Amino acid sequence: MQKPIPANSNNLCTICTQHPATPKFHPFCSARCADVDLGRWLKGNYAIPGENAELPETDPEEDY
Ligand SMILES: [Zn+2]
Repeated sequence: MQKPIPANSNNLCTICTQHPATPKFHPFCSARCADVDLGRWLKGNYAIPGENAELPETDPEEDY
């Protein structure tokens, strides 16, 4: 199991900027944020996440 990485102010998730990025999803903290970024690219704009996006699988280790 992958343990949480200690907070690093220089390595925060670029999406939520609340959680440290993980090597697995770098530069994001989780698949959720990575999916948000991907959705933005696919839409070609920065619409509000979740408005009309597919919900990513919930990571049991992530708890907002
Ligand atoms: Zn994040």
